[in-house]
Formats: sequence, structure tokens, C-alpha cells
Amino acid sequence: MLELYPWQQGIWKKLLQNQQHMRHTLLLTGKKGIGKYTFSRQLAKSLLCHSATAEHIACGACLSCGWFEQNGHPNLHCVIPEALSTDSIAIADQESKESSSLSKVKKNLSQQISIDQIRHLNDFVYLTGHQKGYKVVLIYPAETMTHAAANALLKKLEEPPADVLFILVVHQMQRLLPTIRSRCQQIVMPMPSVETSIVWLKQHGISDPELILPLNDFSPLSTWSFVQEQLTIPHQHFVDSIKQGQNFDPFALALSLQQIHLSTVVSWLQKWCYDLVSCRVTGRIRYYLKLLPVIQVLSKQIDLIAYMAFLRELNTHQKLSHHPLNARLFLEEMFIRYSFMLCGK
Ligand SMILES: [Zn+2]
Repeated sequence: MLELYPWQQGIWKKLLQNQQHMRHTLLLTGKKGIGKYTFSRQLAKSLLCHSATAEHIACGACLSCGWFEQNGHPNLHCVIPEALSTDSIAIADQESKESSSLSKVKKNLSQQISIDQIRHLNDFVYLTGHQKGYKVVLIYPAETMTHAAANALLKKLEEPPADVLFILVVHQMQRLLPTIRSRCQQIVMPMPSVETSIVWLKQHGISDPELILPLNDFSPLSTWSFVQEQLTIPHQHFVDSIKQGQNFDPFALALSLQQIHLSTVVSWLQKWCYDLVSCRVTGRIRYYLKLLPVIQVLSKQIDLIAYMAFLRELNTHQKLSHHPLNARLFLEEMFIRYSFMLCGK
């Protein structure tokens, strides 16, 4: 069962009140982990529903809603990279799944949307639908289209068939072809306030959301996913080790974290180092709020210039972490560099 998140009620009303929007290709943009995918599915469901409510909410009871919930609606076509497609998309939000931080990511499946996937849309888009009314094409995340796929889509958007609505969902607008962007009606999806996120997380059984929300870039769905994947324990281990300053053992830490997705571990260290630098320069921190006293002590010991260079180095590590390599060696090298920094070497 898909439901809108509380922070999406306003944009839902605004969008659905003016059905003019629906004649265009919609482009839903916004930060990862705020529920854009759920929103786009709910929108598709509502447009396809035979008896939506006055607020344009799908009834959940008609034949169309039944097909939708079984992931078998003949007038809906979802285009998603192989690696993200799941058997039971409705169980949880795709965006929270996508933020998955454990290394259980299906390794050999493509992270991109291929030209073949876009070509397969031809029959759906150009032939008559099974029912009257809208046909909806949902592309998520649209920036993962290969260049060839994006160009193939562009041709369809240039001459869109009547009653076909394309909904493109993107996390990073700048990665989408400008020629595609210019053909879309852009909808900026709202980021929930910290207070709203905390209330929502507490309602979903997360204790101490104040402390883990900053670690997950203030995204409520990524925070939820962080707890579901039981990352709190390895993360606590990371913090317990790293806060020891010069006494921590980079090899033991690398060994214990090698099963966690590398980019996740790099982002933990980036946030930690950011807080050390920020504390030294401004006296304030952003992420590890609970550890302010420890960070205050450590921040006085660091060589600021060298540390800022190390932060830039971590940006490179972040890029490299997405490529296949030896996780343990990668982490060892990064933690050794960090420990050298503390020793002033
Ligand atoms: Zn319905």
C-alpha cells in the first residue's frame, strides 16, 4: 500500500488541482531519500484509478487499483535499472532501498537504464492501451539513462503521443540531458523539515532520530533505512574506534567494516572530519552532535591545513568507492592516512 508522506500533502494538492500539468512530461526533482519514488507511484495510481476521491487519491478498490497493487497494470510501464528492480516494489519505498548500505547490492546487474529498455517502450507508447485514459511511463532514476537511452527517450518526448504521461524522477538534475529537461514540467519535491522528519521517524519506531538524522544527510528515508539495515552497531563501532585519536587501530577497524558499502564508510569519515575542521574553525559541528566534547578535544590537536587537504582526498575516495576493488585494502589505506593525520605526519 503506497501512501504519501506527510511533507508531500501540499505539493500533491497543488499538482493535482491543476490537471493541466498532466499534459506534460513531469520531472520530479529533489534530494535522494525524501520519497519522490513513492510520490510518483501514487500519482500514477491516482491517474489510472477509475474512481479516485475528490482529493485525487486512488480508491484502492477498483480493478485498476488492483492491477496496480499487483504490479501488473497494463497502462503503466516502469523503467528502472536492473540493479534496482525488485519483486515487491510496494513493500517499502524504493528510495530507502536504494540507499542500501550493505554490500548485498546485486553485483552483476546494471545500474543504468539501457537503450533497449527505452526501445521496449515503443509498443506501449505508440499502440493502443488496454483501457481508455492515461498511459503512464515512469522512469526512475532518470539520470541513470545511458547517453543513447536518453537520446532515444528525447525522440519520444519531442512528439509525445496523446494521453501518455511521462514521469521522470531524478536525484541529480545536472546529470540529465538539458534537452530532456527543457521538455519537462519540473516539480521540485519538498525536503521535510528536521522537526517533521523527527516526528515521522519516531512514529515509525526509531528512537533517538535527532542523533542519526544528521548522519544520513537529514533524509528521513535514508535514516529509516540505516536503522533497518542494523547499521547502528557498525557505525557505533566506527565512532568508538575513531574517537580514540592516535590510539585507534586502522587494521582492526577496516576488518570490521569491510562488509559495509564502501561509500557509506567513506561518508562516515567525511562527516567526522568535517566536524573536526568545523569545530576548530567555527566552534560548531553538524553531524556528530552527541560527541561534541570529544570532537572539541580532538579538533585542537589537528593540523588544519593538512586536514582540509585530507577532506579533499576523501572526496576522491568517495568517487573510487563505487568501483569494484578490495574493500579491506581500501579501508586500511584510508584509515592509515587518517591516523597519520592525527600523528601530524
Ligand atoms: Zn481505484
